Amino acid sequence: MTKWVYGFGGGSADGDASMKNLLGGKGANLAEMSSLGLPVPPGFTITTEVCTWYYANGETYPADLETQVQAALAQVEGVVGKTFGDAANPLLVSVRSGARASMPGMMDTVLNLGLNDQTVEGLAALSGDRRFAFDSYRRFITMYSNVVLGIGHDQFEEILDDHKDRLGVVIDTDLTAENWEKVVADYKALVEQELGKPFPQDPKDQLWGAVGAVFESWMNDRAKFYRRMHDIPESWGTAVNVQSMVFGNMGETSATGVAFTRNPSTGENKLYGEFLINAQGEDVVAGIRTPQSLTRAGREEMGETALSMEEAMPTVFSQFVDVTGRLEGHYRDMQDIEFTVEQGRLWMLQTRNGKRTAKSALKIAVDLAHEGVISHDEAVSRVEPAALDQLLHPTLDPNAARTVVAAGLPASPGAATGKVVFDADEAERLGQQGDAVILVREETSPEDIHGMHAARGIVTARGGMTSHAAVVARGMGRPCVSGAGEISINEKAGTFIARGRVFKAGEVITIDGGKGEVLDGAVAMIEPELTGDFQTLMAWADEVRRLKVRANAETPLDARTARGFGAEGIGLCRTEHMFFDDTRIAAVREMILADDEQGRRAALAKIAPFQKSDFVELFTIMSGLPVTVRLLDPPLHEFIPHSDADIDALAAGSGLDAEKLKRRARELHETNPMLGHRGCRLGVAYPEIYEMQVRAILEAALEVKAASGVAPIPEIMHPLVALGLEMKYLRDLTDRTAEAVFGEAGDRVEYLVGTMVELPRAALRAADLAEHAEFFSFGTNDLTQTTFGISRDDSGRFLQAYLDKGIFENDPFVRLDQNGVGDLIRIAEERGRTVKPGMKMGICGEHGGDPSSIAFCEEVGLDYVSCSPYRVPIARLAAAQAALSARSGVEREKDR
Ligand code: ADP
Ligand code: MG
Ligand code: MG
Repeated sequence: MTKWVYGFGGGSADGDASMKNLLGGKGANLAEMSSLGLPVPPGFTITTEVCTWYYANGETYPADLETQVQAALAQVEGVVGKTFGDAANPLLVSVRSGARASMPGMMDTVLNLGLNDQTVEGLAALSGDRRFAFDSYRRFITMYSNVVLGIGHDQFEEILDDHKDRLGVVIDTDLTAENWEKVVADYKALVEQELGKPFPQDPKDQLWGAVGAVFESWMNDRAKFYRRMHDIPESWGTAVNVQSMVFGNMGETSATGVAFTRNPSTGENKLYGEFLINAQGEDVVAGIRTPQSLTRAGREEMGETALSMEEAMPTVFSQFVDVTGRLEGHYRDMQDIEFTVEQGRLWMLQTRNGKRTAKSALKIAVDLAHEGVISHDEAVSRVEPAALDQLLHPTLDPNAARTVVAAGLPASPGAATGKVVFDADEAERLGQQGDAVILVREETSPEDIHGMHAARGIVTARGGMTSHAAVVARGMGRPCVSGAGEISINEKAGTFIARGRVFKAGEVITIDGGKGEVLDGAVAMIEPELTGDFQTLMAWADEVRRLKVRANAETPLDARTARGFGAEGIGLCRTEHMFFDDTRIAAVREMILADDEQGRRAALAKIAPFQKSDFVELFTIMSGLPVTVRLLDPPLHEFIPHSDADIDALAAGSGLDAEKLKRRARELHETNPMLGHRGCRLGVAYPEIYEMQVRAILEAALEVKAASGVAPIPEIMHPLVALGLEMKYLRDLTDRTAEAVFGEAGDRVEYLVGTMVELPRAALRAADLAEHAEFFSFGTNDLTQTTFGISRDDSGRFLQAYLDKGIFENDPFVRLDQNGVGDLIRIAEERGRTVKPGMKMGICGEHGGDPSSIAFCEEVGLDYVSCSPYRVPIARLAAAQAALSARSGVEREKDR
């Protein structure tokens, strides 16, 4: 018999923290906390396997599920001493979703389930607090209607607002028992009117309704979007946790809150969090009331007057501090914790490894290693490489003038400039157009996720440091200012007012998420300084890394940036970029128009000095490090205009013959340029072009060697080779030219000759190529194009349909297709090294900066990856993690 239900609470549990796949993160950790003897309200978890079963079997349940749920419920009733559905002594429960990876705000929780017209009276009598009982009942009706019955929140809010207006009351806690009873009556009437039947009164129906809703929510749009964004497979499914209720809304000695054992923005080792007295569950994160700080230090720092938990509830606070310390020690990582105090008694409702900014992830990993809690290697594996991106980008220049238009909370660090947008859909639309936008909202909810993703930054007028906006923005690495109360938004008019100034949609603002400020206009930014924890962690990463990391760079600026980020050479210098420069394009066109070899040579002689000086600069910057130079690759017609009008304009300006240009343009026209006269096919047809380039490279190397005493190591790379004889021809051409250069100079430098492997035939016949090549560089952009037969430039039209239908799991141009393209790389590696053992091999496509593709390169045994300069640190860390998991033989559990 399959065990579908796992109990927890009362000092023991059926499951533990290692069972996340089966119990979901929340369920596994509730079980673990119970076994640790922490105060956890008893409950049970319905496994993720039931979710999978549910979808595999036409949305039905396994036959024995109901019996198992009943048994687990009876167990809980025994521990708590209450009975589900009992009119005098009712057990109430929460129904909570919980997947393997935390999906904050993705699926909603129902609290106070089990209440109906009878049990609410029992709760009132038992607690001696009628107000509390009806407050709980109205919360339950709202949540259940919203999550299970599909009736929107706002209709309930309208009813409540009407009541408050009529009573002249502003905050919810001022409503009396009688007031809440009337609200409840109106709520029930609303449900009946909407559904044509009354609000479900049978607690069993309520329970199964909520369980079904959790499973259903696994497939809602928000959840799907979140999964896609975070790479979470649909097949995982969610668990359902049913847990006995504890009440933070039982008066002044009750409270509910959230805490981080360290600061999730900065990583500082101080308990950090918020709580609300006399409140329940989501009140803290929903931004409806402004929460108070947990600690006195926190309160003082924020300049708040309302007492902190430390001051208002000192006894239970110190007990809580003990528990948080134990949890962090136990999990050996920063914890994100939910708790409730019911009449002075502490209850733990959730713990998990806390989401954090890149800055804080670095600090926490390095600190934990220094504290001796984790090893250096573990610290290296704790930081998500892609998250480093947040640190590699500019922040506001502290010396730039700034006009603060509103102050709020520093909810997620970093700076961003963009146009004001009030609506998530609009943010997405403009974002796709390439516009930088700042999403400005009263507060955010899970419906806004796509807009937050598309925005450069987020501002909310309401909500605290743990509001939805703050948590999600930190997770996404978007700068965010939350709770900017000075902003008053008029969404209909498309404006907001702050400090007396009106801002329209489309106006440019800047936000400083580290300070919590909204600024007028665009503000100057500065490059990040990568010192301290960043350097420490990178040094630890470099110790375990096997793969070398190079950069794709051709300009001096890119080369310098790359070195600054720790690149160990250039893996791809594309020479055609150098041809487009204003100072040389004229000579390039002259070469293209030339009628014969002599004419071409004359034009090339004009380009040569420019090429040489480019390489001198590059070799000087990369002093002593290898530089792979790819000879001319694109078809020649890319260098001349195409339309007659453009050609006429060019001819008029340059004195070139317009008719001749047009004729040449027609001659060079190709139906399929990607597969046309490009790559080494240029070098075979016009060897003088490649000769000029080889000469420029080697003369530059000699010059730098003479000037600096450090000999550069040029690696001359021939693109688009498919045949062994092609490679031999190019190799001979290169060596012959080199010998001529060395003879003239009376000096030599070392150089390598190799090819970019970007055609399936090249990979398959790698042994033929290896006879004449000293290195392979896998050009995985073109190799992906040529393997799939998909043009990168045209794939946009249909790729989305493939992604939507799940035929492609990822865009193969972003994440290497490890099966197909991967096979070709494996074959080329093996066949190449059979001929030339230890042959140098690397990868230089976009994939060189993608962590999962880097792991593949480690596995295949390549020597280096090469990526864009800003991704170099990401690649260094990813390469270190790949080496660590290769060493341990197990794949590192990804922190999603
Ligand atoms: P989420 O994943 O969105 O955080 P949760 O299931 O953790 O959803 O619950 C939402 C809120 O309800 C949290 O504040 C949580 O602490 C509270 N909550 C959940 N279960 C209970 C319970 N049994 N008693 C009291 N509060 C609860
Ligand atoms: Mg929730
Ligand atoms: Mg939670």
